[in-house]
Amino acid sequence: MKRFISEEIILNSLEQNIFIKDINSVYLFANDAYASLVHQEVNSIIGKSDYDFFPKDIADKYRKDDRFIIENEEVIDIKESILVDNEYRKIKTIKKPLYEDGKVIAVLGIFWDVTESEKEQESLKKLEYGLNKAQELANIGHWELDLLENKLFWSDEVYRIFGLEPQEFGATYEAFLEYIHPDDKDLVNKVYTESVKIKQGYNVTHRIIRKNGEIGFVEERCVHELDKENNVIRSIGTVHDITERKKAENELSLAYNVFAKMHDGIIITDAQQNIISVNEAFTKISGYQADEIIGKRPSVLSSGWHDEQFYKGVWEKVNNRAQWEGEIVDRKKNGETYIAELKILPIFNNDDILTNYIAITSDISRKKEQEKLIHNLAYFDSLTDLPNKILFEERVTSRIPVMKRIDKKMAIMFIDIDNFKNINDTLGHSIGDHFLIEVSKRIKKILREQDTLARLGGDEFTILIENFESIDKVAYIAQKIVQVFKEPLQIEGQTIFSGVSLGISVYPDDGTTYYELIKAADMAMYQVKDFGKRNYKFYTPSMNESIVKRMNIENNLHNAIKNKEFFLEYQPKVDTKNNNVYGMEALIRWEQPQEGLIRPDEFISIAEDTGQIYDIGLWVFEQAVSDLTEFHKAGKKLIVSINISSKQLENIKFSDDICEIVNKFDIEKKYIDLEITESHIMNNIEEALSILDNLHNLGFKISIDDFGTGYSSLSYLKKLPAQTIKIDRSFVLDIEKDEDDRSIVASIIAMTNALGKDVIAEGSETQGHVDTLKSLECYKIQGYFFSKPLRIKAFSEYLKAFSA
Ligand code: C2E
Ligand code: CA
Ligand code: CA
Repeated sequence: MKRFISEEIILNSLEQNIFIKDINSVYLFANDAYASLVHQEVNSIIGKSDYDFFPKDIADKYRKDDRFIIENEEVIDIKESILVDNEYRKIKTIKKPLYEDGKVIAVLGIFWDVTESEKEQESLKKLEYGLNKAQELANIGHWELDLLENKLFWSDEVYRIFGLEPQEFGATYEAFLEYIHPDDKDLVNKVYTESVKIKQGYNVTHRIIRKNGEIGFVEERCVHELDKENNVIRSIGTVHDITERKKAENELSLAYNVFAKMHDGIIITDAQQNIISVNEAFTKISGYQADEIIGKRPSVLSSGWHDEQFYKGVWEKVNNRAQWEGEIVDRKKNGETYIAELKILPIFNNDDILTNYIAITSDISRKKEQEKLIHNLAYFDSLTDLPNKILFEERVTSRIPVMKRIDKKMAIMFIDIDNFKNINDTLGHSIGDHFLIEVSKRIKKILREQDTLARLGGDEFTILIENFESIDKVAYIAQKIVQVFKEPLQIEGQTIFSGVSLGISVYPDDGTTYYELIKAADMAMYQVKDFGKRNYKFYTPSMNESIVKRMNIENNLHNAIKNKEFFLEYQPKVDTKNNNVYGMEALIRWEQPQEGLIRPDEFISIAEDTGQIYDIGLWVFEQAVSDLTEFHKAGKKLIVSINISSKQLENIKFSDDICEIVNKFDIEKKYIDLEITESHIMNNIEEALSILDNLHNLGFKISIDDFGTGYSSLSYLKKLPAQTIKIDRSFVLDIEKDEDDRSIVASIIAMTNALGKDVIAEGSETQGHVDTLKSLECYKIQGYFFSKPLRIKAFSEYLKAFSA
């Protein structure tokens, strides 16, 4: 009993509410706490049931619970909210059966109010969560080191900072040291141990190595907790992850270094275009020190080179959020101007508000100079300083769209110096160069400032002429150029006679591209050359055909000898005094497989230009001498006349080569008559004289062909070692009707008689021609009247018939 009482006292002293009910849910016991909870005296509870204290629905529930415990012999351990004094309280309830002799005899209930403690726990949890979140947001974690047990606590954020999971971490001071950057480990260890020694907190910034190997920066702060004996028992600290800040700082210092050390000058202005910063390169370029220019506007640099419109354009672009880039002429502090390559960028902050302008500038004056030099080398002819082929092409090409737009014409002139090769070869390159310089000066004088004269190379010059009132004006300029070269040039004491051939093409009539235009002008120039040089011609479409033809001939000529495409025809020379064929003229024919028969007039001059005439001439010579030998063998002692071009004569091997041929045959040289045109001889009379003298001395006969067209003077004619003068066909054609022609022929005949030379007339087509010539005492006659040129077989038949 005593013991029971003491138990009752104990139970009553507890805060927990305790009751015991019998198997019919009648209270057997209640402690003080329970009694006060239900606002009853302990004694008035005993013997009562829940229906006496609670509303029926609640009492029903308690009754049901009791039955469940008794019948199932189970324990109920629950937390529930119940209404106490009109307030819901969180109640923890344990109800269990009580046994006697193995039988359930009662229900014991213990319950207590956990409302407050639950709340406390909740707010603690919240606090912890909040702290965690705050640490995460601030990148600050905290730690505590228990020095007595060497136990290191890390908050979640510290784990995050080190990139570790709690289970991976040893949670000791030494484990912590492992994750410190090797270079910082000593520092951190020293700072910590020192601070423990002096019992004072510290700050340290160091690097860590995260689990994934990344390097991070942290800032640590630490304080110590001391015991009563003033020993450090615990360290509490924070770890602040400052990696991002460090990165930004590094970037910033990098950016600053770039700014400061950059080779290009940099100017930074505020939004109002006041200069707020410049770098060293800028002070070097401009000569302004930073403090002299900060606060000023960039316009202090303007040189006056650009107009308002220019600057307006710049700022318009920049204010449209674009960057401006270009070249600008600025002025240095000392007044000098310089060409700057400039870039201006507007800078916007994160809120997209314009905050600054940055101008990047570099002095490119030197670069410009070099560019100009290179440009000059690339685009100008070093000898004459004229634009070269490339620049000329560029100019013409760039003008074409302009002409098209304004619907205007322009003219291209192609000029070739008539005998430049000769000048160069005979007088030397120095005079040749000097000559070209003089040529360019002469032409330049005639042109206007805006016309472009270029040297394409060699002795070829081109001119671009725009803005002319009429084509007549172009013709006038061309005429003047041709005229001015009829005057000799004085070069290094030498008098040089020259001349130009000039071809003209007109945009858009003759071509719409550079190549078409230059080709047309070139063709026109070639035509001038073919028609005796020292003149100008406008391009005509027919030139195109003749040039193509010419090129074909040139190409085909290469194989003509080898392919045996040439043959000879012979035209008889008749002596009307004794009615006798005394000679024959060899005339070349070309049977070209594709083109058919080509007349010598069409290909001889080309062969002369290309030099092929020399070999062709030798072939003619050998064939003619060979045929002649056959006639002689057959008893017909004819003379053969062979046409010789001046180009053949100019070759120093000529006389040797023909002598060698003659030696192959059994024939005397006096039966071989070399026909040389008068105009060829007159071109270079002294040289011709010595060559002809040589041939004459070797025993050849010489005739002056086409006489009357070359303006020979009597004095030269006297000197010429020619036996025969051949009156040109053009005088014979109208000899019956034309008084003038007749008197010319008469005087030629008189002259040759006086000089003791023979005379023959070519191109006699009619009886009338023959009669008139005879009446003028010209008895040797050649022409269609007697026979057209004939192939060798037909010719020998003609011979037989003639003498019969
Ligand atoms: P050329 O030396 O004046 O030759 C005479 C030309 O007059 C020949 O023309 C001949 O066929 C033509 N002819 C002859 N009789 C008459 C006539 O009664 N009336 C007319 N209208 N013409 C007549 P072809 O054969 O066409 O030769 C033309 C020119 O080609 C020659 O003129 C000559 O300068 C040159 N040539 C011809 N063969 C040779 C050659 O083997 N070597 C060289 N270097 N030139 C040649
Ligand atoms: Ca002839
Ligand atoms: Ca002739």
